[in-house]
This record gives sequence, structure tokens and C-alpha cells, in this order.
Amino acid sequence: MIGVVAESADFDVVREFFELFKTPWEFCRGDQHYEVLLCAADVPFEATADIVLVYAGRKVCFDQKRSISIGKCVDRFCVLSERETEIPIYGRAVSFATSAAPLLTHQPGGECAAFFERLGDTSYIRIGYDLLAEIRMLLTAGQPPAQAHFPTLELHIDLLRRWIIGCGIELVEIPPVPKGYRFIACLTHDVDHPFIGKRMLDHTTVGFLFRTVVMWFWDLVRGRTTLQNVLTNWKATLKLPFIHLGLAKDLWSDFDEQYASFEKGLATTYFVIPFQGRAGIGPEGNAPARRASGYGAKDIETQIARITKAGNEVCLHGIDAWCDRTKAREEMDEIRKVSGASRIGVRMHWLYQSAQTSSALEDAGADYDSTVGYGVTVGYRAGATQPYKPFGASRLLELPMHVMDTALFYLSYLGLTHRGAMNRLAPMFENATRFGGCLTVNWHDRSLAPERLWGVTYGEILSELRERDPWFATAGDAVAWFRKRRSATFAANNADSGEIHMDAPDRWIGLPGLVLRTYKSRSVGDFRKVTADDHADRPVGAVVETAVPATGVSGT
Ligand SMILES: [Zn+2]
Repeated sequence: MIGVVAESADFDVVREFFELFKTPWEFCRGDQHYEVLLCAADVPFEATADIVLVYAGRKVCFDQKRSISIGKCVDRFCVLSERETEIPIYGRAVSFATSAAPLLTHQPGGECAAFFERLGDTSYIRIGYDLLAEIRMLLTAGQPPAQAHFPTLELHIDLLRRWIIGCGIELVEIPPVPKGYRFIACLTHDVDHPFIGKRMLDHTTVGFLFRTVVMWFWDLVRGRTTLQNVLTNWKATLKLPFIHLGLAKDLWSDFDEQYASFEKGLATTYFVIPFQGRAGIGPEGNAPARRASGYGAKDIETQIARITKAGNEVCLHGIDAWCDRTKAREEMDEIRKVSGASRIGVRMHWLYQSAQTSSALEDAGADYDSTVGYGVTVGYRAGATQPYKPFGASRLLELPMHVMDTALFYLSYLGLTHRGAMNRLAPMFENATRFGGCLTVNWHDRSLAPERLWGVTYGEILSELRERDPWFATAGDAVAWFRKRRSATFAANNADSGEIHMDAPDRWIGLPGLVLRTYKSRSVGDFRKVTADDHADRPVGAVVETAVPATGVSGT
């Protein structure tokens, strides 16, 4: 059991952190003896513990009492490292002048950023940054694109876990991994342009013609396309007048069937724009006119019917839902009307969002949002591989979006070739198997068709994912599984035994089970031998239905 000492202003961060690191914990009660005491505030504590971890990016009372010398103080971005792993720190950080072996070092100087010492029966780890401030920053502002490749929040959990085990404590946890799988994969498609035939010489058609008629030679020379693709695109260009005259089939309209031929029955989620011709509100007033869609949900009723019949999910690709709860309700109602779906998730067109978005969506009845991600790169904006509950929301979960096709290939963004894109994604596949959680991919509706022809990369992504044995789930089912995990609590009187309680477990029928993972303790101070593989799993079987609040946080 972990006892947590924190300022009351940070209680929300502590609660969310321990929904993501699902292990027995409670706010510290003074008279208690804990196996682990996690101190994230400079407040005196009376509780005793086998291990005391003190996180602070400045000199605190603990340092004075123990005569710990502070070295350098950093109040801006820095990188710490532990063996091969690096972790970015965005707030205050300090180094220590100590002869103890460092657990973390500042880069590039190598100063000690965390160390272990043992006094009597108690182990102490002093860590020179503010854990809760880091977690709050990740789940609100998020990481800048330059640090997108760090799954920072998962790294914080991993470090804490391994420090506890390395101090000789056995740890139980419900990992973010469904029973029988290694992680969750969500294949999603933003439907922005389901028809080229409806568009005369707008920016999308002009872009199409420019790339197929003018750019092909340059793309071929630089290895960004193949001769086969050039020929396919020329053929498509020649068809364009006939498509406009209604004499040939639209290149983009059968997007769902094109995806079905790649996905072969895997669960997918389509985000559909509700209304045609609405540019909506942008962060700085009216959004540019080209944000307005050339279609509305009603225009693709046939495709939506096929998608839902195949068991896939149709959700809202929001226009103004990000800033206006009345519009959010109107947009969601339109998707419900056309698709018949009762559970509606949301991803905003052009990834618009603000600090008020989660409460606007929650008030409008959205189940989840999947907008938090990058338009310009790929990676972990919130530093997380898992869905989380945004601060201020009471029920809505945020499913982070990690990989978007346009970010990989557009010259104004990463501008990668097929091989470059796969190299860029390789560490993300490894992170999915290392940390669990959900890897969310967004491949746009027209990306398999001319002129993009990005199907080769999409096909290879599917192969890479399949090899790693994920649970392919719709975004809604993935979020439901994480709700199931959040609903589990550790028994109040016997938390470390791993006895689990769940409120109304029948709600979760049809979803994969939870796993209880026990990490074996190591001899004290034996940090170098602790790896993520030092564990034994067993299914959570004997679930006890309970309405009694148990230890830790009961999630929603
Ligand atoms: Zn869009």
C-alpha cells in the first residue's frame, strides 16, 4: 500500500495518476505505517514507512533535516536519464551533491537527479522534480511537438514502480492491458472528403490536380512515390471530368469498402462531420472558410449503414462542439439520427480544443473525446498511452490520438517517405507492448485512394500491429474497457493481497477481462536488475460486487 502526502490542491492529480498506475494507495493518514510513502509536498508527515520517496524540484524541509546538499536548480525544460531511458522534465528540477549512486542523472552534465539511501530499516529515495506538477502539465498543456516521442507519463509510472520493487517491496497492479492481449489498437478514420465529384475547383481539387499533374516527377525523383502510383493518379485525373458529369464512380466515395479490404474484419471507428458548409468557430474567431466540409452526415447514409452493419463505430467529427455545448448537442444529435448510435464519441475537425472542451462535450452527453494529439507530428501529446479523465470532467474520458497520416506525409509537417514513416513509428509499436494502453491511429477517409495512395504504409502498420497481438477495438469499446479498469478498486482491508472489488460488474460483459499483475520484490537497493518483465499475471477472477467504497479511487 502506498500512502500519498500531497497538497490538497493536487488531490485531483493524485487521483488521476493512480487511475493510470492502478495499484493500492490512499492519502496518507498520520497514524499509519505504510510500505511506501510518496511525498509530493513539503509538509511534515508522521506516518512511518519501509520506503519514503520524496519528489521536489527545490530544497525542502526533508533536505534540511537530512543535510542533503542541493546542486544546480533548473526552472525550465531538462532531460534526465536512467541507463538508456530518457525522461523530459518541464517544471522545476534540482540536482544533488551526494556520493550516493544516482538513480537518475541530468543530461548532458551527468549530475545526480535522484538517489537512494538506507537509514536503519527505512529506504529513502529523493527525486529532484515535482511529480504532480509534471503530471498536471502533461494532462493539460501537453508536451510540445519536439518531445512528442516521449511517453513521459508512462515513464513516470515505470520509474516509480521499479524504484518500489528495487527497494524490496512486492507490488500489485491492474495493468492497462486486457486479458489475453498485449495492448489495445484503435484504428480510426476522420471522414473529411468522401466525394471529389461534388467539388469543382476548390482547394481540395486544386491540390489533387497539382500533386497528380505537376508534383509527380519531383515525388518520383525523391523516392516519395512509385511509377505505379504516378500511373494510377494519371488515370484518376483523366476520370475526373467524367466523375463531375456523373458518368464515372467517385474516387473517394467507397472509402469504407476500401478500408474493409485492408482491415478484414478488424474493429474501426469513423468520425463523421454532421453538417455541410459550416466552417465554424476557430480559436481566434471565425475559422477559415476552407474548414467547411463539402458533405454532411446525411450525404453518406449509405456508407454509414455499411459501417454500422459491419459492427464498426460511427462518431462525431465535431465542428463547433469543442467550444459550444448547444452546438455540441446539435452535432451529436445529427450523428445519432443518421447512424442510430446511442454512444457517441468525438474527435474535432482540425483538432480544435480548449480547456473548456471536455466540460462542453460532457454536458452534451459525449462518451469520450479523441482529439488530444498532434496535427504536425506523431507521438504522445499527453505523454500517455492510456485514456485519462481530463481535469474538470466527471465522466468523459480522453482517448489520446497518437498517429495521423497527414502529419507523417505532408511536406509542411514531417514530410516522410513510406520507409521514413515506418522507422518513425517503430518505437511507438515497441512502447505499446512495453507499457500497454491503447495505440490510436487516424488514417483519413481518402488516404487509400488517388492521389494520396497511402495504403502501403497503412497495410504495413496493420501488419506490425497484428504481429504484436493487440485487441483491435473500436474507440468506444477501448474506452469502455478502461472504464471497467477504473471501476475496479482494491479491497479496503486487504489491498495488497490483490482482492478486487467492482461496482456492478455485469456492465462490462463482452469486454476482455482485467489482469492482476504482481511484481516480485528485489533485494533492497537492487535497482539495476529491475525490469518491466519481473512480474507474474493472473486473471482477475473472483470479482466481488460491492457498493462499499474500497481503498483507492473508484473510477467512472
Ligand atoms: Zn477533419
